[in-house]
Parts: sequence; C-alpha cells; structure tokens
Amino acid sequence: MDLGLAGRVIVVTGGSSGVGLATVRALLDEGARVATCGRDADRLDGATARLGAESGRLLTAVCDVRDPDAVDRFVRRAAEEFGGVDGLVNNAGQSRMKGLDDATPEDWRDELELKFAGVLNPLHAARPYLAASDAASVVNINAVLAKQPETRLITTSAARAGILNLSKSLSVELAAEGIRVNSVCLGLIDTGQWTRRHAAAGTGVSYEDWQAELAADRGVALGRLGRAEEVAYAVVTLLSPRASYITGTGIDVCGGVGRSIL
Ligand code: NDP
Repeated sequence: MDLGLAGRVIVVTGGSSGVGLATVRALLDEGARVATCGRDADRLDGATARLGAESGRLLTAVCDVRDPDAVDRFVRRAAEEFGGVDGLVNNAGQSRMKGLDDATPEDWRDELELKFAGVLNPLHAARPYLAASDAASVVNINAVLAKQPETRLITTSAARAGILNLSKSLSVELAAEGIRVNSVCLGLIDTGQWTRRHAAAGTGVSYEDWQAELAADRGVALGRLGRAEEVAYAVVTLLSPRASYITGTGIDVCGGVGRSIL
C-alpha cells in the first residue's frame, strides 16, 4: 500500500538513536523528506552516515528540545529548506529511574520540563506550517507507563500521564486547523536506553540474557523487548495521510506488557 508520504516533510526530534532513528529510516524509505535533531553532533553525524540518505532528503541539526529558540530555528530551517512541514514526531527524551524516596525536587522539575517542553516547543514552532498542510499529523511518542504507572519510575510515569492527557486536548484544539494528534505508547523497546542501563548495572550477565530476564520480570506477553523498527511502523502509519480520520487516540507498541485494557 502506498502510504502517501513521498515528498512529505516530517520533523522527528531525537532521530540520532533508537526509535527516532528507526522512524527517520522508515520515513526516508517511504520517500519523505526528514528533518531531525539531537543534542550531540557526533551522534547525529553517525546516524546520517548510517542512513546514507539520498542527498537533499535529510536535514540534521544540533538542538535541545527544551530550548524554544533553538527548536524554532531548527523547525524554521526545515520548513524553509523543504518548503513546509506536514508531520511532527515528538520523540526526543529518556526516562528517569527514580522512586518517591530518591526523586529530588530537581528530578521532578527536570522530568516535567523535558516531557512537556519536548512536545510543546516543537509543536509551537511547527504549528503554522502544519496548519498550512493538507495532511498534518503529530505523533507523540509516549509510554504505557502513562496508563499503568511504575513506582520505580514515578516522575516519568506522572509526566507521561500528563502528556497523554495533553495529546487529547491538542487533538481537539488543533482539529479545526486540520492537524491530527495521536500517541504511540511504548513498552520496553531495545534501544540505547536499555544498553546504557545494562552497562550501568554491571551484572556480568550478557545483554541477551539480561533482556530476557527483564521481559519476564515486567510481564511482557510476547516474552521479549520490542525493536525500534516495530515502533516506527506504527508511527509512520499515523503520519500517513491514509490515517486521515484517526485523531485523539493512540497505538500501544508494547508486546502485551501489563494488564490494562484501556
Ligand atoms: P534513545 O536514547 O535511543 O534515543 C533518544 C534520542 O533522543 C537520541 O537521539 C537523543 O540524542 C535524543 N534526545 C534526548 N534528549 C534530547 C533533548 N533534550 N533534545 C533533543 N534530543 C534529545 O532512546 P529511545 O529511542 O529508547 O527513546 C525514544 C523515546 O521513547 C523517548 O522519549 C523515550 O522516553 C521513549 N520511550 C522509550 C522506551 C524504551 O523502552 N526504549 C519506553 C518508553 C518510552 P542526544 O542524546 O544526542 O540528544
């Protein structure tokens, strides 16, 4: 099926690694033009080299999504070079392994800032361009934690719930401008986040065995962590103009983790 993304302009935050990188790759495969950002220039260069994108269809910029001016510059550059913006994927970020007793006030502030600025700054920057598109779509990368909190990730769970709530409001507010807003809620996806945690844990257990134990411990029905490519398919589907009647909802890509039916 032709997803109708060829020639479309999509902004993906945090595209130098993991889910963002897989999404950029899937969009380029569909013929889209993609702008992506991250904080680390070397990581972005490495991603560009791995993507080997056809010249002129990939734009990268060093940009922290918490900095509204930097995000404005990044999105404006993408719109000017590519002639507009049709889609936005708010993906940049990471989770914070903190519980009630070890989360400091700074942890709470930083986590809420990252999660909310990570959606609102790119949205504010892209909104005029999205409103001018005939197939505008915003996808917020979220986590199933938004619906089933984990106390060991208390700040992230609370922030994620807020973002799910915000996504619903945005879908209503922006419908009049023809902008659809949806979420993709992740379970445990095998990316840099988990390789870093495995290295930090220093258990001596192989990464494969550690992952299998993790999936069992967290009750992942499919018995394994997901792959970033498996998330990218869901994101690309929601970005497609063919999803024109889907807004204010979401897709869980989580291997059946947990028991929530919402
Ligand atoms: P990775 O660490 O592999 O990738 C994160 C990407 O975001 C990198 O490109 C990173 O680049 C960029 N990034 C991080 N912070 C910022 C920032 N402040 N400004 C701009 N770019 C930033 O993580 P994942 O692919 O696993 O995560 C993607 C999203 O999915 C995140 O929001 C994460 O919280 C969410 N998620 C992931 C889960 C998982 O199991 N993997 C589970 C649930 C949710 P750089 O560091 O150079 O800035």
